[in-house]
Amino acid sequence: MPLIQHLLDNNDPKWVDNERELRREWARLYDEIQVDHSCMKGESCVKVYGVPGNDLGLLYFEDPADGTLMMRTIVNVRTKKYVREYPYTDSTKGMNDGAFREWLEANGWASSNRMAHSGCRIHKIECSEGRYVMPYIDGCGSVEDHGSYFTIDGNISASSTDGYINCGVTCPCCGGAFSDEDALTYVDCRGESICESCLEDNYRYAYGRRYEDWYPEEDCIQCETDGNWYLETSASDHDVYECEVTGNWYHLDDLVNTKDGFVYVDRAQALDHEDSDGNTHAVESDAKQLPDGTWCHADDYDDLLAEQQVEDEDETVTEGEQA
Ligand SMILES: [Zn+2]
Repeated sequence: MPLIQHLLDNNDPKWVDNERELRREWARLYDEIQVDHSCMKGESCVKVYGVPGNDLGLLYFEDPADGTLMMRTIVNVRTKKYVREYPYTDSTKGMNDGAFREWLEANGWASSNRMAHSGCRIHKIECSEGRYVMPYIDGCGSVEDHGSYFTIDGNISASSTDGYINCGVTCPCCGGAFSDEDALTYVDCRGESICESCLEDNYRYAYGRRYEDWYPEEDCIQCETDGNWYLETSASDHDVYECEVTGNWYHLDDLVNTKDGFVYVDRAQALDHEDSDGNTHAVESDAKQLPDGTWCHADDYDDLLAEQQVEDEDETVTEGEQA
């Protein structure tokens, strides 16, 4: 008894309103049809081929003796071309590779052509962000993204056998997949774009010499005065300096000059007597109050105290003379 030839024809008008059924039919046949070797056997990802009117078809055979389905090839039903045939060489039932190809050609199917399915539309089914259901595409091994659907043959590799492809974009920092480039931010000092989470964990939007940009967090400081971030090496360009007492950073308006350098104004003591460098403030712990209630730097205390005592004596003498 000769084998019965079947063709699941996506261009058959009956599928237009039965898309889900068509998808299921592709998956069912891939599961049932016997072939020698195929990494896609039994893989439900082939349901993406089930698009009504996309020119694709699945050609296969049935043994009328026991209903065994066997041998398959995806064909372009419009151009009558195919990419690759999958024989079944069980000697009692199928045809070997050469015989299958001869049969295809004898029945009007043009010899294998790796671009035979180029441009045919297939489903775009997302299973997680940037990850899509995708069988191994014979021949060209690639697809093109058209937003709501893919077409066979394009700039996205579809030669993975695990039933999925990652498209969209990948964060080079954490390896995470994202559906489109808008999810990534270009970081100039890094020379590439990374995701929001990596950006927040590792970078600060800070003032550099002139403009704000993303810089490594460890190179940045936050100014307590305005809350803004600055690139540490450029902070002085914006009149922002580190307080020598607290280690925090402030704008010049909140800092005073002391012998030890800039100090946050609330952590300094205003001096009534300028220190030997002409500073009018001192670190609180370096300031000392004289008996007359005025403040000086501790280094100057003894001299100033002596001066005051001499003045007091003079005044006493003067008062005595007047008496
Ligand atoms: Zn990331």
